[in-house]
Amino acid sequence: DSEKIIKNLEIILKARGYSDEVKVIKTGCFGFCEQGPIVKIEPDNVFYVRVSPKDAKDIVDEHIIKGRKVDRLLYREPEKNEKINRQSDMPFYKKQLRVALRNCGLVNPEDIYEYIALGGYEALGKAITNMSRDEVIEEIKNSGLRGRGGGGFPTGVKWEITSKQKSDVKFIICNADEGDPGAFMDRSILEGDPHSILEAMAIGGYAIGASKGIIYIRAEYPLAISRLTTAIKQARELGLLGKNIFGTDFSFDIDIKYGAGAFVCGEETALINSCEGKRGEPNYKPPYPAQEGYWGHPTCVNNVETFANIPPIITKGAKWFASMGTEKSKGTKVFALAGKINNVGLVEVPMGITLREIIYDIGGGIVGGRKFKAVQTGGPSGGVIPEKYLDIPIDYDSLISIGSMMGSGGMIVMDETDNMVEIAKFYLEFTMDESCGRCTPCRIGTKRMYELLDKITSGKGTMEDLENLKQLAHMVKASSLCGLGQTAPNPVISTMKHFWNEYLAFIKEAD
Ligand code: SF4
Repeated sequence: DSEKIIKNLEIILKARGYSDEVKVIKTGCFGFCEQGPIVKIEPDNVFYVRVSPKDAKDIVDEHIIKGRKVDRLLYREPEKNEKINRQSDMPFYKKQLRVALRNCGLVNPEDIYEYIALGGYEALGKAITNMSRDEVIEEIKNSGLRGRGGGGFPTGVKWEITSKQKSDVKFIICNADEGDPGAFMDRSILEGDPHSILEAMAIGGYAIGASKGIIYIRAEYPLAISRLTTAIKQARELGLLGKNIFGTDFSFDIDIKYGAGAFVCGEETALINSCEGKRGEPNYKPPYPAQEGYWGHPTCVNNVETFANIPPIITKGAKWFASMGTEKSKGTKVFALAGKINNVGLVEVPMGITLREIIYDIGGGIVGGRKFKAVQTGGPSGGVIPEKYLDIPIDYDSLISIGSMMGSGGMIVMDETDNMVEIAKFYLEFTMDESCGRCTPCRIGTKRMYELLDKITSGKGTMEDLENLKQLAHMVKASSLCGLGQTAPNPVISTMKHFWNEYLAFIKEAD
């Protein structure tokens, strides 16, 4: 519908003689999926929700020409039924803090000048003309930024390790192989603000001594690929990519490589193998990619959201970034909020916010007023978090301490009607299918775990099956080669820990 809305707005503005005065700009995502498509009128700061192509006429005739708001398109707060005009007043946005998503919904991602007008490429200019490579790395280290792809490794340290490798050829890779079911943070950033990623990669390339960057992206993201391709072309035309950037001796360029959507290719060594045209399987480590990566050269791999944080850290400083978040997890995190929640969408919140604030204040609570049961963070690699932990401030370490993980930012909310054993089975089926098969514990272990879960949920399981499932889960976790296998049992382990009665209920039924 969005394309039709844009077309209709343009046609009607032209017919009314307003096409020179009023511009229709196609931006990236506003994050509020539940209320889309959204049309925002600037400079009036009026936010219209659930717009359909036929509403274009009223938006032009009433709002643009007569200056009257189109009442029926304004957002209404569900309980109070109050109309809200402005994005910043909506409960969905009030507790959000947008750093990685700062330009999404604001700029035309296909126009480099809009990005530049908002300070784009200033960080790159500052880094390569005013800062040494070590100073750039020090700034990122001091900011406390940690990898947003799931691992949480300190980004500045990763850059430092790669920069210290002695090699004339190095690479920096952007991992845009977003594979978690229900997660779309990276896609949204690439579609809404592609230049921020190019700029950050160039800064990273300068810092580690690489002149070549690669974006490894899922082929199923055609819009993101098209916008990245346009952005790379525009940046080259303005000399922001290519030879002697800003008149310095620093040269840097970026290629795009396509992934076929294998979950395991989110793992760095599998991703690098796939980039080289090999089978997307993880390698034994060491050597680490920082030592021997793409075609044997030192390589630094960072995720899309991690990169999106780099330009503002360089322009505003490490102190500014470190002032947000918790002691060990600085800044913000983007979550894809989905499941049995009223406000499905993409949210960016400061680290340290509680799950209760995300689910109830931002997410608007549970669909149909039903009772909250659990939330799964970290996608298929994470664990379920029950109600008793809703008030824990969330960051990398607190989520691990309660048996889950940050992961890349998927957040699926479950209500009282969900069966947690079925949920565990759903996630395990996903990881079993995505196992690359290289190591036995993951290849065979996840399959045997799935068979046991299937037996249990079909009412044929025994107490011995439950015991075997538990043991197998810990064995697969302890002995698998890569993160996929090491985390695949998490949904089973956490549901067994917090919802043991639901497992027992299946056994009782069998009796
Ligand atoms: Fe492949 Fe699974 Fe082993 Fe990872 S843990 S290498 S995905 S078989």
